[in-house]
Amino acid sequence: MQLHTINTGLFKLDGGAMHGVVPKALWNKLNPSDDNNMCSWAMRCLLVETDGRLILVDTGIGDKQDEKFFGHYYLHGNDRLIQSIQNAGYSPDDITDVFLTHLHFDHVGGAVKRAGEKLVPTFKNATYWSNANHWDWAINPNDREKASFLKENILPIQESGQLQFFEGKDGDTFASGFKVRLVNGHTESMMLPQLEYNNQTILYCADLLPSMHHLPMPWVMAYDTRPLETMKEKKLLLEEAVAQNWLLYFEHDAVNELCSLQQTDRGIRYKDILAVSQL
Ligand SMILES: [Zn+2]
Repeated sequence: MQLHTINTGLFKLDGGAMHGVVPKALWNKLNPSDDNNMCSWAMRCLLVETDGRLILVDTGIGDKQDEKFFGHYYLHGNDRLIQSIQNAGYSPDDITDVFLTHLHFDHVGGAVKRAGEKLVPTFKNATYWSNANHWDWAINPNDREKASFLKENILPIQESGQLQFFEGKDGDTFASGFKVRLVNGHTESMMLPQLEYNNQTILYCADLLPSMHHLPMPWVMAYDTRPLETMKEKKLLLEEAVAQNWLLYFEHDAVNELCSLQQTDRGIRYKDILAVSQL
């Protein structure tokens, strides 16, 4: 297996919403907000080469929305999806699979691009992966998540015929060294890659733990549809992770890409901060 970090740029989200019930006096020390109470977040995807497949995990926010939409999210930083794939030595047409952890706009926006009047898959040779439960949830959105599931990010994938559903259960294999963990707290049936790489296990946390600072149990985003479920899932996965010396990969942490874990008397906390390029 080979892994490449795919940075797609930074955006801003409200610090309070990202930290749930945690008071600003605590989170602001770790992730300082701007004058509008917004903090910077990464959209850090991952390219996984295994079995002769080139699997892109998530796609960032993309570039097809209008200025008004992007005006809410203050995109910054120089990294872009396609450029990062090229920097890793590949062309977008080399991608065989796009593995979508879930269909919120900051994860699936780059999956579809504008071609004249039409919206088409960005990766023309790829199979796009979701699962039936999550897909149904996203195309019939509840009022709380409606603003995160945008039809223009989702429907063109199905119309192209490139969509397939992962039918496995929690812990089943998607590709060599690539298992899928299913969690339901953030949204219905979010899929987390669990990867075996250079004798280490890496859990791609997606929105279960958006950043390294979300390790303590009460640090759960206000966006989550089932926060108590998130806390249970986080507890179980972190216990598994610390017992087996896994590394965690953070999609939204603006600074920290990966960390190892240690058990402390206050709970499970980070130990060393790493990057894929160091493994
Ligand atoms: Zn999400």
